[in-house]
Amino acid sequence: MMEKTFVMIKPDAVKRRLIGEIIQRFEKRGLQIVAMKMVDVDKELAKKHYAEHKDKPFFKDLIKYITSSPVVVLVLKGKNCISVVRKMVGATDPKEAESGTIRGDFALEIGRNIIHASDSPESAEREIKLFFKNSEIFEYNMPDADIIYE
Ligand code: UDP
Repeated sequence: MMEKTFVMIKPDAVKRRLIGEIIQRFEKRGLQIVAMKMVDVDKELAKKHYAEHKDKPFFKDLIKYITSSPVVVLVLKGKNCISVVRKMVGATDPKEAESGTIRGDFALEIGRNIIHASDSPESAEREIKLFFKNSEIFEYNMPDADIIYE
């Protein structure tokens, strides 16, 4: 099924100059970038994005982390890309994440796990709407689609 998912390259990854490395993995996999920008996440937006965690003990630190410097947000499109991208990202806690995943290759601690990706079609839709206007999401031809897909 053709899907769209939301990805955020978090402040620690931006500061560590990992933007290109991370995006390259998605492109090489065959996923299409249909939206992308660098943004400062303010407290209000951060709290909306992570609303489901508002009562968790780590919430305050999470908001501080995510608002600490600019992030890069993307919308990726591809077949089954919500679960494909979650697998590429790896377990929430990088010390449990498999090598070969983004967190498993570039991160060590749960509070500095470098990337976010939507975990369901509902959260993908909600998160894409939170960060992008419709006019910022593009549709364009992917000339190698016939090679990547059966
Ligand atoms: N987080 C944290 N401590 C925890 C659990 C989560 O700092 O004990 C942070 C971490 O940055 C994580 C985010 O909160 O990515 C959201 O947690 P979630 O369980 O939704 O994980 P994710 O979907 O990012 O893998």
